[in-house]
Amino acid sequence: MSLKNKSAFIWADSKLLTKPIHVSAPYHFVFLGEILSYIENSGNTSIDVFDFESRDVEFSKYIQCLSDNKYDSIAFFVNTDNIENSLTLLKITKEISPKTKCIAYGELCVFLPDFFINTEFDAIVSDRCDCEVSILDFFNYSYNLINKEKARGVKFIENNKFNLYADGIYLPSKDWGFTNLNKSFVKSLFNIEGKDQVVIEIARGCPYNCKYCKETCFAGNIERRRPIKDVISYINHSDYEIFKFYASNFTLDELYVDKFCDELINNCKEIKWSCTTRPELLENERLIQKMSLAGCKKISVGIETIEKDELDDLKRSYNTQNIIDGINLLNKYNIEYKALIMFGVPNQTKESILATLDFLSKYKVTIRPTAYTPFYEMKPNMSAEDIYKFDKRTYYKHIDGLSYSTFLQLIYNVYNYKNILMEG
Ligand code: SF4
Repeated sequence: MSLKNKSAFIWADSKLLTKPIHVSAPYHFVFLGEILSYIENSGNTSIDVFDFESRDVEFSKYIQCLSDNKYDSIAFFVNTDNIENSLTLLKITKEISPKTKCIAYGELCVFLPDFFINTEFDAIVSDRCDCEVSILDFFNYSYNLINKEKARGVKFIENNKFNLYADGIYLPSKDWGFTNLNKSFVKSLFNIEGKDQVVIEIARGCPYNCKYCKETCFAGNIERRRPIKDVISYINHSDYEIFKFYASNFTLDELYVDKFCDELINNCKEIKWSCTTRPELLENERLIQKMSLAGCKKISVGIETIEKDELDDLKRSYNTQNIIDGINLLNKYNIEYKALIMFGVPNQTKESILATLDFLSKYKVTIRPTAYTPFYEMKPNMSAEDIYKFDKRTYYKHIDGLSYSTFLQLIYNVYNYKNILMEG
Protein backbone atom coordinates (compact mmCIF):
# COMPACT_ATOMS: atom_id res chain seq x y z
CA MET A 1 0.00 0.00 0.00
CA SER A 2 1.36 3.44 -0.78
CA LEU A 3 0.65 6.85 0.67
CA LYS A 4 -1.16 7.84 -2.48
CA ASN A 5 -4.23 6.22 -0.88
CA LYS A 6 -6.11 9.06 0.78
CA SER A 7 -9.10 9.05 3.05
CA ALA A 8 -10.73 11.36 5.54
CA PHE A 9 -12.98 11.38 8.57
CA ILE A 10 -15.72 13.97 8.92
CA TRP A 11 -17.64 14.94 12.03
CA ALA A 12 -20.20 17.54 10.93
CA ASP A 13 -21.24 19.96 13.63
CA SER A 14 -24.61 19.90 15.30
CA LYS A 15 -27.08 22.77 15.38
CA LEU A 16 -27.52 25.61 17.82
CA LEU A 17 -29.74 23.90 20.41
CA THR A 18 -27.53 20.84 20.72
CA LYS A 19 -24.31 22.82 20.71
CA PRO A 20 -22.92 22.28 24.24
CA ILE A 21 -19.94 20.44 22.84
CA HIS A 22 -18.39 19.66 26.20
CA VAL A 23 -21.26 17.16 26.62
CA SER A 24 -20.25 15.32 23.47
CA ALA A 25 -16.48 15.83 23.78
CA PRO A 26 -15.86 12.31 25.19
CA TYR A 27 -17.48 10.78 22.11
CA HIS A 28 -14.88 12.41 19.87
CA PHE A 29 -12.17 10.41 21.63
CA VAL A 30 -14.14 7.17 21.38
CA PHE A 31 -15.79 7.45 17.96
CA LEU A 32 -13.08 9.41 16.21
CA GLY A 33 -9.71 9.31 17.98
CA GLU A 34 -9.67 5.59 18.80
CA ILE A 35 -11.22 4.49 15.50
CA LEU A 36 -8.75 6.64 13.58
CA SER A 37 -5.77 5.19 15.47
CA TYR A 38 -6.83 1.66 14.67
CA ILE A 39 -7.04 2.47 10.96
CA GLU A 40 -3.80 4.47 10.86
CA ASN A 41 -2.02 1.61 12.63
CA SER A 42 -3.36 -0.86 10.11
CA GLY A 43 -1.63 0.53 7.03
CA ASN A 44 0.06 3.38 5.25
CA THR A 45 -3.11 5.23 4.43
CA SER A 46 -2.93 8.97 4.80
CA ILE A 47 -6.00 10.22 6.66
CA ASP A 48 -7.20 13.78 7.19
CA VAL A 49 -9.65 14.69 9.94
CA PHE A 50 -12.30 17.38 9.61
CA ASP A 51 -13.85 17.63 13.05
CA PHE A 52 -16.19 20.58 12.53
CA GLU A 53 -17.87 19.93 15.89
CA SER A 54 -14.65 20.50 17.82
CA ARG A 55 -14.01 23.62 15.73
CA ASP A 56 -10.74 22.10 14.66
CA VAL A 57 -11.10 23.03 11.01
CA GLU A 58 -12.42 25.73 8.71
CA PHE A 59 -14.99 24.83 6.09
CA SER A 60 -12.81 26.50 3.43
CA LYS A 61 -9.98 24.07 4.21
CA TYR A 62 -12.30 21.14 3.53
CA ILE A 63 -13.41 22.58 0.20
CA GLN A 64 -9.79 23.15 -0.80
CA CYS A 65 -8.91 19.54 -0.01
CA LEU A 66 -11.94 18.27 -1.89
CA SER A 67 -11.34 20.39 -4.96
CA ASP A 68 -7.83 19.00 -5.11
CA ASN A 69 -9.84 15.80 -5.61
CA LYS A 70 -7.66 13.81 -3.38
CA TYR A 71 -9.86 11.49 -1.31
CA ASP A 72 -10.61 7.93 -2.36
CA SER A 73 -12.99 7.57 0.54
CA ILE A 74 -14.51 9.40 3.51
CA ALA A 75 -16.10 8.13 6.72
CA PHE A 76 -18.82 10.37 8.18
CA PHE A 77 -19.75 10.07 11.85
CA VAL A 78 -23.53 10.53 11.74
CA ASN A 79 -25.61 11.14 14.80
CA THR A 80 -29.10 12.51 15.43
CA ASP A 81 -27.69 15.91 16.32
CA ASN A 82 -25.53 16.33 13.20
CA ILE A 83 -27.65 14.50 10.63
CA GLU A 84 -28.65 17.63 8.73
CA ASN A 85 -25.16 19.07 8.45
CA SER A 86 -23.77 15.61 7.58
CA LEU A 87 -26.13 15.37 4.63
CA THR A 88 -25.26 18.89 3.52
CA LEU A 89 -21.54 18.06 3.61
CA LEU A 90 -22.18 14.78 1.81
CA LYS A 91 -24.00 16.58 -0.99
CA ILE A 92 -21.17 19.10 -1.37
CA THR A 93 -18.63 16.28 -1.30
CA LYS A 94 -20.36 14.30 -4.03
CA GLU A 95 -20.79 17.37 -6.23
CA ILE A 96 -17.16 18.44 -6.00
CA SER A 97 -15.59 14.99 -5.95
CA PRO A 98 -17.98 12.38 -7.39
CA LYS A 99 -15.37 9.64 -7.32
CA THR A 100 -14.98 9.81 -3.53
CA LYS A 101 -16.75 6.89 -1.86
CA CYS A 102 -18.56 7.75 1.37
CA ILE A 103 -19.55 5.56 4.30
CA ALA A 104 -21.63 6.53 7.35
CA TYR A 105 -21.04 5.16 10.84
CA GLY A 106 -22.51 5.87 14.26
CA GLU A 107 -25.72 5.18 16.12
CA LEU A 108 -28.12 6.22 13.36
CA CYS A 109 -26.72 3.53 11.06
CA VAL A 110 -27.74 0.96 13.66
CA PHE A 111 -31.05 2.42 14.79
CA LEU A 112 -32.35 3.63 11.49
CA PRO A 113 -30.40 1.98 8.65
CA ASP A 114 -33.22 2.30 6.12
CA PHE A 115 -33.03 6.07 6.37
CA PHE A 116 -29.70 5.90 4.51
CA ILE A 117 -31.13 4.08 1.48
CA ASN A 118 -32.30 7.38 0.04
CA THR A 119 -29.14 9.34 0.76
CA GLU A 120 -26.01 9.73 -1.37
CA PHE A 121 -23.93 7.49 0.90
CA ASP A 122 -22.30 4.52 -0.84
CA ALA A 123 -22.48 2.38 2.30
CA ILE A 124 -23.10 2.31 6.04
CA VAL A 125 -21.53 0.27 8.83
CA SER A 126 -23.74 -2.66 9.81
CA ASP A 127 -24.90 -3.61 13.27
CA ARG A 128 -23.08 -6.41 15.17
CA CYS A 129 -19.76 -5.06 13.95
CA ASP A 130 -17.05 -2.83 15.41
CA CYS A 131 -17.11 0.16 13.11
CA GLU A 132 -13.32 0.45 12.65
CA VAL A 133 -13.37 -2.98 10.95
CA SER A 134 -15.94 -1.87 8.38
CA ILE A 135 -14.36 1.52 7.80
CA LEU A 136 -10.92 0.00 7.24
CA ASP A 137 -12.32 -2.54 4.79
CA PHE A 138 -14.36 0.15 3.02
CA PHE A 139 -11.25 2.32 2.65
CA ASN A 140 -9.30 -0.67 1.27
CA TYR A 141 -12.16 -1.35 -1.13
CA SER A 142 -11.95 2.28 -2.31
CA TYR A 143 -8.21 1.77 -3.04
CA ASN A 144 -9.05 -1.40 -5.03
CA LEU A 145 -7.11 -3.50 -2.52
CA ILE A 146 -10.04 -5.75 -1.70
CA ASN A 147 -13.35 -6.46 -3.37
CA LYS A 148 -16.80 -6.04 -1.86
CA GLU A 149 -16.98 -9.70 -0.85
CA LYS A 150 -14.18 -9.08 1.65
CA ALA A 151 -15.59 -5.89 3.16
CA ARG A 152 -16.72 -6.99 6.63
CA GLY A 153 -19.81 -5.33 8.05
CA VAL A 154 -20.12 -2.91 5.13
CA LYS A 155 -23.71 -2.52 3.92
CA PHE A 156 -23.35 -1.25 0.38
CA ILE A 157 -26.26 0.79 -0.94
CA GLU A 158 -26.99 -0.48 -4.45
CA ASN A 159 -30.14 0.01 -6.49
CA ASN A 160 -32.03 1.31 -3.47
CA LYS A 161 -31.24 -1.63 -1.24
CA PHE A 162 -28.51 -2.85 1.08
CA ASN A 163 -26.05 -5.56 0.10
CA LEU A 164 -23.96 -6.98 2.91
CA TYR A 165 -21.33 -9.20 1.30
CA ALA A 166 -19.35 -10.15 4.44
CA ASP A 167 -20.64 -10.30 8.01
CA GLY A 168 -19.24 -7.89 10.55
CA ILE A 169 -17.08 -8.91 13.51
CA TYR A 170 -16.32 -7.66 16.99
CA LEU A 171 -12.59 -7.08 17.42
CA PRO A 172 -10.60 -8.52 20.32
CA SER A 173 -10.37 -5.65 22.81
CA LYS A 174 -6.56 -5.73 22.70
CA ASP A 175 -6.82 -4.43 19.13
CA TRP A 176 -8.86 -1.30 19.91
CA GLY A 177 -6.97 1.88 19.14
CA PHE A 178 -5.93 4.56 21.61
CA THR A 179 -6.40 8.20 20.65
CA ASN A 180 -3.23 9.87 19.35
CA LEU A 181 -3.10 12.85 21.70
CA ASN A 182 -1.06 14.92 19.25
CA LYS A 183 -4.02 15.29 16.88
CA SER A 184 -5.19 18.87 16.58
CA PHE A 185 -8.86 18.07 17.22
CA VAL A 186 -7.85 16.69 20.64
CA LYS A 187 -6.35 20.05 21.61
CA SER A 188 -9.57 21.74 20.47
CA LEU A 189 -11.58 19.44 22.73
CA PHE A 190 -9.33 20.30 25.66
CA ASN A 191 -10.03 23.98 25.02
CA ILE A 192 -13.77 23.39 24.89
CA GLU A 193 -13.82 21.35 28.09
CA GLY A 194 -11.59 23.83 29.89
CA LYS A 195 -9.37 20.99 31.06
CA ASP A 196 -6.96 18.50 29.51
CA GLN A 197 -9.15 15.48 30.06
CA VAL A 198 -8.27 12.36 28.07
CA VAL A 199 -11.06 9.86 27.46
CA ILE A 200 -10.28 6.16 27.14
CA GLU A 201 -12.87 3.61 26.13
CA ILE A 202 -12.56 0.80 28.67
CA ALA A 203 -15.55 -1.34 27.72
CA ARG A 204 -17.97 -1.92 24.87
CA GLY A 205 -21.36 -3.58 25.10
CA CYS A 206 -23.94 -3.63 27.87
CA PRO A 207 -26.05 -6.54 29.16
CA TYR A 208 -28.96 -4.38 30.37
CA ASN A 209 -30.60 -3.46 27.05
CA CYS A 210 -32.64 -0.46 28.26
CA LYS A 211 -35.09 0.23 25.48
CA TYR A 212 -34.30 3.95 25.21
CA CYS A 213 -30.53 3.39 24.88
CA LYS A 214 -28.39 2.57 21.86
CA GLU A 215 -25.52 0.76 23.59
CA THR A 216 -26.70 -2.87 23.40
CA CYS A 217 -27.88 -2.49 19.85
CA PHE A 218 -24.67 -0.69 18.87
CA ALA A 219 -22.02 -2.72 20.67
CA GLY A 220 -23.74 -5.95 21.70
CA ASN A 221 -24.96 -7.30 25.04
CA ILE A 222 -21.72 -8.98 26.05
CA GLU A 223 -19.35 -6.60 27.75
CA ARG A 224 -15.77 -6.53 26.47
CA ARG A 225 -12.97 -4.72 28.32
CA ARG A 226 -9.53 -3.58 27.32
CA PRO A 227 -6.47 -5.34 28.75
CA ILE A 228 -5.53 -3.40 31.89
CA LYS A 229 -1.81 -3.34 31.12
CA ASP A 230 -2.46 -1.56 27.79
CA VAL A 231 -4.46 1.18 29.51
CA ILE A 232 -1.79 1.69 32.16
CA SER A 233 0.95 1.85 29.53
CA TYR A 234 -1.01 4.44 27.51
CA ILE A 235 -1.53 6.59 30.60
CA ASN A 236 2.12 6.35 31.62
CA HIS A 237 3.27 7.38 28.15
CA SER A 238 0.94 10.38 28.00
CA ASP A 239 1.65 13.88 29.30
CA TYR A 240 -1.78 14.19 30.94
CA GLU A 241 -3.19 13.71 34.43
CA ILE A 242 -6.99 13.80 34.06
CA PHE A 243 -8.79 10.80 32.55
CA LYS A 244 -12.34 9.67 31.96
CA PHE A 245 -12.76 5.89 31.74
CA TYR A 246 -15.58 5.37 29.27
CA ALA A 247 -17.71 2.31 29.98
CA SER A 248 -21.48 1.98 30.29
CA ASN A 249 -21.18 0.52 33.77
CA PHE A 250 -17.59 0.75 34.94
CA THR A 251 -18.20 -1.06 38.25
CA LEU A 252 -20.17 -3.93 36.68
CA ASP A 253 -17.04 -6.11 36.49
CA GLU A 254 -15.76 -5.79 40.05
CA LEU A 255 -12.83 -8.13 39.52
CA TYR A 256 -11.59 -6.02 36.60
CA VAL A 257 -12.00 -2.78 38.55
CA ASP A 258 -10.19 -4.27 41.54
CA LYS A 259 -7.19 -5.30 39.41
CA PHE A 260 -7.32 -2.06 37.47
CA CYS A 261 -7.11 -0.03 40.68
CA ASP A 262 -4.22 -2.19 41.91
CA GLU A 263 -2.33 -1.32 38.73
CA LEU A 264 -3.21 2.37 39.01
CA ILE A 265 -1.92 2.40 42.59
CA ASN A 266 1.23 0.33 42.04
CA ASN A 267 2.36 0.81 38.46
CA CYS A 268 0.95 4.08 37.20
CA LYS A 269 1.77 7.74 37.57
CA GLU A 270 -0.63 9.71 39.78
CA ILE A 271 -3.82 10.65 37.94
CA LYS A 272 -7.35 11.87 38.63
CA TRP A 273 -10.17 10.01 36.92
CA SER A 274 -13.91 9.59 36.59
CA CYS A 275 -16.30 6.91 35.33
CA THR A 276 -20.00 6.05 34.96
CA THR A 277 -22.18 3.35 36.49
CA ARG A 278 -25.67 2.38 37.71
CA PRO A 279 -26.96 3.05 41.27
CA GLU A 280 -27.13 -0.61 42.23
CA LEU A 281 -23.51 -1.16 41.23
CA LEU A 282 -22.17 1.03 44.03
CA GLU A 283 -22.59 -1.33 46.95
CA ASN A 284 -19.08 -2.69 47.41
CA GLU A 285 -17.47 -0.39 49.97
CA ARG A 286 -14.06 -2.02 49.75
CA LEU A 287 -14.03 -1.43 46.00
CA ILE A 288 -15.15 2.20 46.29
CA GLN A 289 -12.44 2.81 48.86
CA LYS A 290 -9.85 1.32 46.51
CA MET A 291 -11.15 3.40 43.59
CA SER A 292 -10.73 6.50 45.70
CA LEU A 293 -7.18 5.49 46.63
CA ALA A 294 -6.47 4.95 42.92
CA GLY A 295 -7.47 8.54 42.09
CA CYS A 296 -11.20 8.30 41.32
CA LYS A 297 -12.72 11.76 41.85
CA LYS A 298 -16.13 11.50 40.26
CA ILE A 299 -18.69 8.82 39.37
CA SER A 300 -21.63 9.63 37.12
CA VAL A 301 -24.59 7.50 38.14
CA GLY A 302 -27.53 6.82 35.81
CA ILE A 303 -30.37 7.16 38.29
CA GLU A 304 -32.77 8.67 35.68
CA THR A 305 -35.58 9.41 38.21
CA ILE A 306 -36.51 8.50 41.77
CA GLU A 307 -40.20 7.78 41.14
CA LYS A 308 -41.07 4.10 41.42
CA ASP A 309 -43.62 3.88 38.59
CA GLU A 310 -41.24 5.70 36.25
CA LEU A 311 -38.40 3.37 37.24
CA ASP A 312 -40.72 0.40 36.65
CA ASP A 313 -41.42 1.67 33.16
CA LEU A 314 -37.67 1.96 32.54
CA LYS A 315 -37.26 -1.59 33.97
CA ARG A 316 -34.93 -0.28 36.66
CA SER A 317 -34.91 -2.31 39.85
CA TYR A 318 -33.32 0.04 42.40
CA ASN A 319 -35.05 2.37 44.85
CA THR A 320 -34.29 5.63 46.63
CA GLN A 321 -32.49 3.80 49.44
CA ASN A 322 -29.97 2.40 46.90
CA ILE A 323 -29.37 5.96 45.71
CA ILE A 324 -28.98 7.35 49.24
CA ASP A 325 -26.56 4.55 50.16
CA GLY A 326 -24.49 5.26 47.05
CA ILE A 327 -24.37 8.99 47.77
CA ASN A 328 -23.26 8.37 51.37
CA LEU A 329 -20.62 5.89 50.27
CA LEU A 330 -19.09 8.22 47.70
CA ASN A 331 -19.20 11.12 50.17
CA LYS A 332 -17.32 8.99 52.69
CA TYR A 333 -14.46 8.47 50.22
CA ASN A 334 -14.46 11.99 48.75
CA ILE A 335 -15.79 10.98 45.36
CA GLU A 336 -18.26 13.34 43.67
CA TYR A 337 -21.67 11.77 42.96
CA LYS A 338 -23.00 13.07 39.66
CA ALA A 339 -26.64 12.13 39.15
CA LEU A 340 -27.63 11.53 35.52
CA ILE A 341 -31.37 12.05 35.24
CA MET A 342 -33.93 12.20 32.45
CA PHE A 343 -36.89 14.48 31.84
CA GLY A 344 -39.75 13.23 29.70
CA VAL A 345 -39.73 9.62 30.99
CA PRO A 346 -43.10 7.93 30.18
CA ASN A 347 -45.72 8.83 32.80
CA GLN A 348 -43.51 11.56 34.26
CA THR A 349 -45.28 14.66 35.54
CA LYS A 350 -44.20 18.13 36.51
CA GLU A 351 -44.68 17.08 40.15
CA SER A 352 -42.50 13.97 39.83
CA ILE A 353 -39.73 16.02 38.17
CA LEU A 354 -39.90 18.42 41.08
CA ALA A 355 -39.74 15.50 43.54
CA THR A 356 -36.62 14.06 41.87
CA LEU A 357 -34.89 17.45 41.82
CA ASP A 358 -35.85 18.21 45.44
CA PHE A 359 -34.47 14.83 46.47
CA LEU A 360 -31.15 15.34 44.68
CA SER A 361 -30.82 18.90 45.97
CA LYS A 362 -31.31 17.68 49.52
CA TYR A 363 -28.30 15.41 49.09
CA LYS A 364 -26.31 18.16 47.34
CA VAL A 365 -25.18 16.01 44.43
CA THR A 366 -24.20 17.26 40.99
CA ILE A 367 -27.12 16.94 38.55
CA ARG A 368 -26.89 16.36 34.79
CA PRO A 369 -30.26 16.12 33.07
CA THR A 370 -30.97 14.91 29.57
CA ALA A 371 -34.19 14.26 27.69
CA TYR A 372 -35.73 10.78 27.53
CA THR A 373 -35.39 9.93 23.87
CA PRO A 374 -37.57 7.18 22.35
CA PHE A 375 -35.22 6.23 19.52
CA TYR A 376 -37.51 3.28 18.83
CA GLU A 377 -40.15 5.71 17.51
CA MET A 378 -37.91 7.00 14.72
CA LYS A 379 -39.03 6.01 11.23
CA PRO A 380 -36.87 5.69 8.09
CA ASN A 381 -39.17 7.93 6.07
CA MET A 382 -38.74 10.82 8.52
CA SER A 383 -36.94 13.91 7.31
CA ALA A 384 -33.49 14.75 8.66
CA GLU A 385 -35.12 17.69 10.43
CA ASP A 386 -37.50 15.35 12.28
CA ILE A 387 -34.69 12.95 13.18
CA TYR A 388 -32.73 15.86 14.63
CA LYS A 389 -35.53 16.29 17.17
CA PHE A 390 -34.58 12.91 18.70
CA ASP A 391 -31.60 14.41 20.45
CA LYS A 392 -31.07 13.51 24.07
CA ARG A 393 -30.65 17.14 25.07
CA THR A 394 -33.71 18.58 23.37
CA TYR A 395 -36.31 15.88 22.64
CA TYR A 396 -39.68 16.94 24.04
CA LYS A 397 -43.01 15.17 24.29
CA HIS A 398 -45.88 16.94 26.01
CA ILE A 399 -45.78 16.97 29.81
CA ASP A 400 -48.80 18.59 31.49
CA GLY A 401 -47.95 22.04 32.81
CA LEU A 402 -44.45 22.00 31.30
CA SER A 403 -43.95 23.91 28.06
CA TYR A 404 -41.04 23.24 25.70
CA SER A 405 -39.29 26.42 26.79
CA THR A 406 -39.61 25.41 30.45
CA PHE A 407 -38.30 21.97 29.55
CA LEU A 408 -35.24 23.46 27.82
CA GLN A 409 -34.56 25.74 30.77
CA LEU A 410 -34.65 22.73 33.08
CA ILE A 411 -32.17 20.84 30.90
CA TYR A 412 -29.72 23.71 30.59
CA ASN A 413 -30.23 25.56 33.89
CA VAL A 414 -31.25 22.80 36.26
CA TYR A 415 -30.02 24.32 39.52
CA ASN A 416 -32.59 27.09 39.09
CA TYR A 417 -35.37 24.48 38.83
CA LYS A 418 -37.58 25.88 41.61
CA ASN A 419 -38.01 29.24 39.90
CA ILE A 420 -38.30 27.65 36.46
CA LEU A 421 -40.99 25.20 37.55
CA MET A 422 -42.88 27.88 39.46
CA GLU A 423 -43.05 30.06 36.34
CA GLY A 424 -43.54 27.15 33.88
S1 SF4 B 1 -28.83 3.01 29.71
FE1 SF4 B 1 -26.88 2.28 30.56
S2 SF4 B 1 -27.40 0.31 31.49
FE2 SF4 B 1 -29.08 0.78 30.04
S3 SF4 B 1 -28.46 -0.20 28.12
FE3 SF4 B 1 -27.71 1.92 28.07
S4 SF4 B 1 -25.61 1.78 28.79
FE4 SF4 B 1 -26.64 -0.11 29.40
